[in-house]
Amino acid sequence: MTDALVLDDVHKSYGNREAVHGISLTVKEGEIFGLIGHNGAGKTTTLRMISTLLRITSGSIQVYGYDVAKEPDKVRELISYLPEDAGAYKDLTGRRYLEFIANFFATGAEKDAMVQKGIELADLGDRIDSKVDTYSKGMMRRLLIARAIMPSPKLAIMDEVTSGLDVINAFEIREIIRSIAASGVTVIMSSHNMFEVEMLCDRVGLIDHGNLVLLGNPEELKNQYGAKSLEEVFVKVIKGAEGSQ
Ligand code: ATP
Repeated sequence: MTDALVLDDVHKSYGNREAVHGISLTVKEGEIFGLIGHNGAGKTTTLRMISTLLRITSGSIQVYGYDVAKEPDKVRELISYLPEDAGAYKDLTGRRYLEFIANFFATGAEKDAMVQKGIELADLGDRIDSKVDTYSKGMMRRLLIARAIMPSPKLAIMDEVTSGLDVINAFEIREIIRSIAASGVTVIMSSHNMFEVEMLCDRVGLIDHGNLVLLGNPEELKNQYGAKSLEEVFVKVIKGAEGSQ
């Protein structure tokens, strides 16, 4: 299977404080990979480096063989990044917003097809023609996911994509993520919801204070730690790390 994403000994410092201390991992094409860890562990920093938005202090990141530091434009053609705090232009309708974004990627019939795909992904019914500032948080997130996925990225990078959503919206967004991965899109996402990560992700990486302390398939990790849930694995590993400090 093709390597969609390779992080090799990636470090990131803010000033003289190192936030990421040498993370190495590989994500295969079509995988859903979850980054988990407590607040401030380094998940967003890692996702932003993969997205070319933050400069790597040392080490390297490759997206489908392209180096994010040396070939950022090539990488940007292959990825979409959905930040946790993303928003949309509130004065536009959902449809106009998708059209506006599609302008950056395509013209003519190709653009129309992209917008149509976005409308189907967002699945907002006739509310697609309401202004974005009338949308609930769940509707807004569906529109943003549609925006991120409609240009058919090869790697979708999503930060806390279901945070703050109700059960139904979170469930439906997980269904969207499953279906895009089944169509060959690779997904790397962060989440604080262990249940979600266990249900959704093929593999997970646990970051603790900027270090990758655990990597594997949720089922294998549960067996390895004699745990009933990924949450229990998380607690055992983090408590163990605290005890050894
Ligand atoms: P959360 O789950 O709360 O979103 P996170 O795992 O995404 O946390 P990051 O946002 O990557 O964590 O932060 C990692 C560390 O880097 C934290 O100590 C944070 O304070 C620090 N940090 C993040 N951005 C900056 C910045 N722009 N300048 C200085 N320090 C930063």
